[in-house]
Amino acid sequence: MSGPVDVADATASESGDPEPLVVEVLEPREATVGTMTVQRALPRRQRRTVGAWCFVDLFGPASVTEQGGVDIGPHPHIGLHTVTYLLDGQVLHRDSLGSEQVIRPGQVNLMTAGHGVVHAEEPTGHYRGGMQGAQLWVAQPDGTRGGPPDFAHLAELPSTDVDGALVTVLVGAVDGAASPARQDTPLVGADVRLPAGQRELPLDPAYQHALVVLTGGLLVEGRLGGRAPTAHPGVGRTSVGLASPEGARMLLLGGEPFGEELLMWWNFVGRSRDEVSEASRQWQAGEDRFGAVSSGLRRIPAPPLPWN
Ligand code: MN
Repeated sequence: MSGPVDVADATASESGDPEPLVVEVLEPREATVGTMTVQRALPRRQRRTVGAWCFVDLFGPASVTEQGGVDIGPHPHIGLHTVTYLLDGQVLHRDSLGSEQVIRPGQVNLMTAGHGVVHAEEPTGHYRGGMQGAQLWVAQPDGTRGGPPDFAHLAELPSTDVDGALVTVLVGAVDGAASPARQDTPLVGADVRLPAGQRELPLDPAYQHALVVLTGGLLVEGRLGGRAPTAHPGVGRTSVGLASPEGARMLLLGGEPFGEELLMWWNFVGRSRDEVSEASRQWQAGEDRFGAVSSGLRRIPAPPLPWN
């Protein structure tokens, strides 16, 4: 899915201070992608990345009708993986590798952009009903980001019970349940369904984490409630205390701190203005770098570069 990162998200404010063990709570920012309103949990000015996770949009709940659903025309990416995960609905993915794949709830579409890829997200044409999900990006490290694009559809994901919570593993491993998803840096991504009550969720102390509330009310170490706020337990924790009066669902995202400085703009994850400017120019010029995708939707032009 397209994830236009604009100036509102783009001010880096990295601090060299060690992260506190306390839980930091950030409200999402409302943004627009195509015709959809989304809740952007990452990046925020205060929090650029969680491990290599560099972008988190929640969309829906919404309705898919004759008139619409998710319809995001062809657009390019570089230097990232897109991880698409649905709670409800269906979306048709097409890309410049020739992939044509409908995704349904409980599955993952994992696209690797590498040096460059183009994709579109379309209505299936026949699906009517609810639509809700998450669009996540993972920054690729220098070792792989210049490599070829790739696409994988993971139709079945492993799950495990953690103290009564049903954990479906999208990326990485939780409690011995390991996803087959490619990961270029150590990561975890999981859909956690919490029944009513209190529990301790184990965390990897080497990882940064984000807990993104999807549905229900959730207290993280006694803080936060409602939908879409994100809690960031500090590095060094081996667990985090969760309480939900009526049950909740959240994304658990984590990874080793990403040591490379990112420059994110529009749909590009790079390292420098020159690099991103060149990718934008090549997309606008229709050069071969990104290939072509077969889609009935309109190609999305790059917006003007903010530094020109
Ligand atoms: Mn996209």
